Amino acid sequence: MDIRDGNLGAYHTYEEAMEEIERVAAEHPDIARIETIGYSTYGRPIKAIKISKDVDVEDPDKPEVLYMGQTHAREVISAEVSLGVIDRLVDGYGTDDYVTGLVDSRQIWVVPVVNPDGAVQVAKEVTETGDSSWRGNCRDNNGSGTVDSGDGVDLNRNFGRGWGGSGSSGSPGSQTYRGPAPFSEPETAAIKDLVDKHDFVTSVSFHSYSGLILYPTAYTNDPAEDHDLLKSIAENMRDRQPHEKYVAQKCTDLYVASGISDDWLYEDKGVMAFTFEIYKGGSGWWNTFKRFNPPEEDIQYHVDNNVGAALYAAEIADDPSQALTERAERDAKGGPFDRSVSTYEDFAEYIGHETEGYDVPA
Ligand SMILES: [Zn+2]
Repeated sequence: MDIRDGNLGAYHTYEEAMEEIERVAAEHPDIARIETIGYSTYGRPIKAIKISKDVDVEDPDKPEVLYMGQTHAREVISAEVSLGVIDRLVDGYGTDDYVTGLVDSRQIWVVPVVNPDGAVQVAKEVTETGDSSWRGNCRDNNGSGTVDSGDGVDLNRNFGRGWGGSGSSGSPGSQTYRGPAPFSEPETAAIKDLVDKHDFVTSVSFHSYSGLILYPTAYTNDPAEDHDLLKSIAENMRDRQPHEKYVAQKCTDLYVASGISDDWLYEDKGVMAFTFEIYKGGSGWWNTFKRFNPPEEDIQYHVDNNVGAALYAAEIADDPSQALTERAERDAKGGPFDRSVSTYEDFAEYIGHETEGYDVPA
């Protein structure tokens, strides 16, 4: 642990998360490599890990999938689930047929910490005070030369689609300050640059909390052009959650928000983009960090509850429309499958999947 980053116990600090993905890439050079996609306001590298067979080859025939974590600084569990996706892929390669199939046939990019400066600020505050409610990046809004309250831009209000609309603020110091212009922040610009260079078909951005799987759009109550497909994908993801099922809903059913990553990914780049709001939330209203992040002994439970659901985005990336067929079959049989009363073989048979080589976390 690097003392500069503070100590988050079982949660990864930014430095620890970066060390973790560097280690993974070093141990699996055939299927994993690191790319620095940009630098934060304070010059910290924003690192992505690409996971795919023949990882150095950009293969236009292999669909691309994007996962993002810790866009919002205080939502540290979102980085843990991102790291969980990485672990599942590299650990399962060669032993788990489902995972091996994904790594062989997809190009999967994971950015576990989109917001390094915010992540460092949270670790510092939690170490010093036991709590942090830092959400944005660390843009020096007030020009004081140091990171203090009132600084920061909400990166998930800084993307280009619907930027400046309702559910975002033009006031520096607001928790939802959208920044001076779309993609004004180096962190969102880095994601834009990555997305512009690639051809992502599906994406999942991890946030906390609420226990939701959200689909576009967020900036308008109007349904998305692909509303039925987006809804079906989100519901199929939900049905893959082994421990507790979230509510799949359109973003605006939570609240209207403008300038979020999913709307830009979906409407500008044609990506089937989803947000997981991990964790139903802690009851301790007096501690923001604990409200957004489960107790550290429960991290693995929440990772296991979400990784398989998130990998569905990679599973369908060859043709997302297959989600409609699966949804219709499930709905015809009476709604969400209850994994608690049956074996996975029953589940696979229920949805008409091959049981062999198909695996979900249990
Ligand atoms: Zn968030």
